[in-house]
Amino acid sequence: MTANRPTPRPGVLDIAPYVPGKSTAPGVDKIYKLSSNESPLGPSPKAAAAYQAAAGKLEDYPDGAATELRQTIGRTFGLDPDRIVCGAGSDDLLNLLVHAYVQDGDETVYSEFGFLMYPIYTLGHGGKPVKVPEKDHTLDVDAMIAAVTPRTRIVFVANPNNPTGTYVPFDEIKRLHAALPPNVILVIDAAYAEYVQRNDYESGIELVATSENVVMCRTYSKIHGLAAVRLGWLYGPASIVDALNRVRSPFNVSVPAMKAGIAAIQDAAHIEKSVAHNNKWLPFVSEELSKLGLKVTPSVANFVLMHFPETAGKSASDADAFLTKRGIILRRVGGYGLPNALRMTIGDEEANKLVVATLKEFLGSKA
Ligand SMILES: *Cc1c(COP(=O)(O)O)cnc(C)c1O
Repeated sequence: MTANRPTPRPGVLDIAPYVPGKSTAPGVDKIYKLSSNESPLGPSPKAAAAYQAAAGKLEDYPDGAATELRQTIGRTFGLDPDRIVCGAGSDDLLNLLVHAYVQDGDETVYSEFGFLMYPIYTLGHGGKPVKVPEKDHTLDVDAMIAAVTPRTRIVFVANPNNPTGTYVPFDEIKRLHAALPPNVILVIDAAYAEYVQRNDYESGIELVATSENVVMCRTYSKIHGLAAVRLGWLYGPASIVDALNRVRSPFNVSVPAMKAGIAAIQDAAHIEKSVAHNNKWLPFVSEELSKLGLKVTPSVANFVLMHFPETAGKSASDADAFLTKRGIILRRVGGYGLPNALRMTIGDEEANKLVVATLKEFLGSKA
């Protein structure tokens, strides 16, 4: 029978739409937005200037191959530019991977508290996202391996993961890769790689370089402070890069985004400054929140996940309301199956201290 109105493909209406972090607090003048892991230092001034300069010529299409940007990324990281694909944020690239490799009924594997865009893109292409339990809010490699079936096409790993901030040592990533059939793609989403200060961590470059079925995604939205611009890139084997270049929109990255991206990645001093800021404030925030009696998941990224008691009046949603009234916006993570937690992006000194003081007041007040 013909439907009496247009019907989306199976899976689409199973998607719970992604709820972004809030950005406003009604009735409050000064907002401290710590809900989307954006950089408190903002972009390199050189990147902002390059973006503005691009406004002088807006009538021409961009270079669809993003040649200059890929060459700059290649030089910076020592990579073959032909194996890089740029996108409108790494979200664009994650979507393209699913688009090119997942058919109706195929499975993708992701971890319990993994980034929500993995199941969303999978459902959008008629696939079946398979969620794998974590241990201590950390990806469990053995459980991920056990979840792989003949229908599996992609295994998604955010390392470090959002919204937990935990990471998997690189030996474990290699162990996961070694257990995958050659037709399954391992996607390493390294959106927070620059922040990680651990000797046993690697973003995945070496594994991509030596494998036919591993890709690494990077973003300009976090350490580079360019979330508004929408820019990300992927490093992968030639065959996957070729497939993605066939399905992507021909002009998926704008000229101002490319210009900003080229300048940002060359401003090593600004990147270092952002890392140093996080190195100072991530431990401060983690320790101060712990001292208040909150359980804090150990993070290696630019945000922390804090867990609230279920006590009436002291829950995560009560805390969120208390903070929002004072202009402090953290991230509710109920959509991730973490209704008792809030995620806080590391902000500037004023914001970090204010969150600690405000939560102290909240936890000390009568329920
Ligand atoms: C923020 C984030 C991204 C980046 O998304 P963009 O589309 O590049 O802004 C990708 N993966 C994870 C896990 C993230 O937290």
